Amino acid sequence: ATPAATMVGSTISARNGVLFKGSDVLEQSRGIDAVVFDKTGTLTHGEMELTDVVTPTGFDQPRADGGVTPGNADDTDSAVTDRGPTLDAEFDDQALLGAAASAERGSEHPLAQAIVDGARNRGVELSTPETFENVPGHGIRATVDGSAVLVGNRKLLADADVAPDPATEVMERLEREGKTAMLVAIDGELAGVLATADKVRESAKTTIKSLQDRGVDTLLLTGDTERTARAVAGDLGIDPENVRAGVLPDDKADAIEAIQADGTRAMMVGDGVNDAPALMSAHVGIAIGSGTDVAIESADVTLMRDDPADVLKVLNVADATIEKVY
Ligand code: ADP
Ligand code: MG
Repeated sequence: ATPAATMVGSTISARNGVLFKGSDVLEQSRGIDAVVFDKTGTLTHGEMELTDVVTPTGFDQPRADGGVTPGNADDTDSAVTDRGPTLDAEFDDQALLGAAASAERGSEHPLAQAIVDGARNRGVELSTPETFENVPGHGIRATVDGSAVLVGNRKLLADADVAPDPATEVMERLEREGKTAMLVAIDGELAGVLATADKVRESAKTTIKSLQDRGVDTLLLTGDTERTARAVAGDLGIDPENVRAGVLPDDKADAIEAIQADGTRAMMVGDGVNDAPALMSAHVGIAIGSGTDVAIESADVTLMRDDPADVLKVLNVADATIEKVY
């Protein structure tokens, strides 16, 4: 783009809450073939809430409401603790949450925040972990009141020789609901499952539809599991084939390069520290304005209103600006 044309584009869009960095962004935003969205914090608000606390006695129980609990029939997708009836459930839940939330106090991950807040809201008293270790993309390891506590995904437990199998059914049920399900182990024993839910941003679905209508492919890229990612993708109208799930933080950039390997011009939209290398690798990187500083620094464009619909503005402004040039 000529400097003058670029300036026109940037001025118009800055007024609309879209900030461009550098002068060739508009030209690069022309002829985009695919938009790749991070899930958490990008298509969703990233404000996770603890929804489920399941102790081992609840692993084999069908879901408590089964969809037909009398007087509670419309409650199937509400954000309430949702488990099978358990003996001593109150105590077990509190002990499980106490250990997990105390361990998560060492983490700044949004999942950790949800667990800590969820425990406090339920009146659980927390300890300070004696040791803490972050295992990026998998979870955390900590020592709480002398016990070894793990909170994270199947891989985290499997690596510690704790078999996640007894929780398989409950994990899968929660993931089909689009929730992020986490396993807890205490002193080498499977101790329970926690799940969090996040709300999809209002404009996410219509934005994806608009992109598809103009012939732009839409993809979902996430560290979350395939099942959870597909549930969210299904709600948003993203093709299951276009879901790239279970991608470790360090592998997100490689995933973008794989998508671009055939010459596809990809735009990546993300918010997290994890997304920064992918934002750099993409033809155009777009950061959510309330995202992390490193994401914003790594991106070519920042959406100040946190609205996925503003991705369409970027494409529109790029097209309009290019028209002026030629
Ligand atoms: P995302 O890309 O969705 O932000 P991450 O790559 O950070 O996800 O994490 C991937 C998975 O690892 C999570 O879905 C969760 O199962 C597990 N995990 C990561 N950090 C934590 C944590 N602090 N506590 C529990 N589980 C975690
Ligand atoms: Mg994110």
